[in-house]
Amino acid sequence: MNEKMDLFKQVRDAESWLEWKAKSYGKNVRFVNATHGLFEPFETDIVPDGDSGAAQWGIAKKYLQEAGCPSDADYPEWAKKNSGCDQSLVFIIANKKGRGYACPCYNESDEPEGTILYHSPEWKLTACCIIHEFLHLFGAVDLYETEVQTAENSERMEKMYPKEVMHNPYFPLKEVEISPLTAWLVGLSDKEEPWFNSFLPKKI
Ligand SMILES: [Zn+2]
Repeated sequence: MNEKMDLFKQVRDAESWLEWKAKSYGKNVRFVNATHGLFEPFETDIVPDGDSGAAQWGIAKKYLQEAGCPSDADYPEWAKKNSGCDQSLVFIIANKKGRGYACPCYNESDEPEGTILYHSPEWKLTACCIIHEFLHLFGAVDLYETEVQTAENSERMEKMYPKEVMHNPYFPLKEVEISPLTAWLVGLSDKEEPWFNSFLPKKI
């Protein structure tokens, strides 16, 4: 229970950081939480071993089904109606080793959006990793070397914004930052700059 409460604190810290960051851009963002499995035990076998590296699309939907959510297809609307919030996301913390990922909805879709992160004694979950995945759900892209980003781009970002959370989420919460590119992608800033283009994946 102590470990779970500490993880929930990391979630709240991440959300407070995002609220504070949005405010610095003149945007009003507020997170409201409902939890499942925090105060009661919950076990499921739907979470694959994250070391395989294979993202499970629709993990949020699968989780909601397992959790006995009344209607997974209607979940976003149901969540809006019952919380007064205008957006919803499902955040799963898996108590095992693995690599987290986000499943954003790119098109108009009523599928629930979600992200999964793993927590283990060797690889403890931090607020900055939560911020990284939440920002994916709002439209941010990875800024380190991946399938979508070249090594050159990663080096450029390292020089320009070394503590950018989409480039490197392993800084303490007090030090981490977002670049003008991430701010623009997630809708905090309207200021588009010419250099953004070379970091955008082709499909955006
Ligand atoms: Zn990422």
